[in-house]
Amino acid sequence: MASLVLVLLAGATAAGFDVRYALLSAIDSVLGIDAVMRFVTLWLPAHFFALSDTLPGPLTLLYLLPALHIAPGRRPWWLWTSLIVAAIALPVLRWLALPWVMRYGAPSYHIAFLELAVVIDVLLIGGLYLLTRSRMVLAVSLVATALGCVAEGASLSIPYVPVAFGWIWHAVLAATLLTWAIKARHYRLPAHLCVSCGYDLTGVAAPVCPECGQARN
Ligand SMILES: [Zn+2]
Repeated sequence: MASLVLVLLAGATAAGFDVRYALLSAIDSVLGIDAVMRFVTLWLPAHFFALSDTLPGPLTLLYLLPALHIAPGRRPWWLWTSLIVAAIALPVLRWLALPWVMRYGAPSYHIAFLELAVVIDVLLIGGLYLLTRSRMVLAVSLVATALGCVAEGASLSIPYVPVAFGWIWHAVLAATLLTWAIKARHYRLPAHLCVSCGYDLTGVAAPVCPECGQARN
C-alpha cells in the first residue's frame, strides 16, 4: 500500500504534477489562504527551527540520555553514539539546507521547510516510540506537537517570540520521558508471573517455569 502511494507520487512528479502545490491549493480551497500561510509559513518552520536549532538539537540530549540511562535494560554503544550524532547533526543539516532552500525563493522555500519539518517530526516521534515502546510517550509527543502549534499561533502577535513551539515541546517531552523512565525502573512484575517470560505460575508446583525453564525464586 505504502509502496503503491510512493510509485504514484513518483509517477505524478515525473509527469510534472507537483503534489505539494496540489495539497496546498486543496488546503487553500477548503480553509482559505490564511490557513496556508499560518500552517506552512509559521507553524511548520517554527517546529523545524525548534528541533534543529543549535540549542534545541543538543538540548534534546539533556533529557533523552538521562531518561534512557534511568530506564531498565542495556542499550548498545551504537545507539548512544547515533543519538548524540543525530542531535548535533540537526543544526548542521539546517545550516546546509538553508542556502539550498533560499535559492528557490518563496513559496518553494516554505514548502522545503514543510517537508523538512514533517520528515524530522515523523523520524523523531517514531524514533522515540521505538526507543521507549511507550504509548504514553507516543501520545504525548503528538499532543505536544499540537500544543506547540497553538502556542506558536498565539505568540504571532508578539514580535520576536516565534519560539514558543520549541520550549513547550521540549518541556512537555522532557517531563514525559523522565516520568516514563522512573516508572519503568520502579515497575515490579507481580510475584505469580515468571520473571523471564511472564508466564502465569499460579498453581504450578515445579521449581522451574514450564514455559521457558527459568528457575523460580
Ligand atoms: Zn518463563
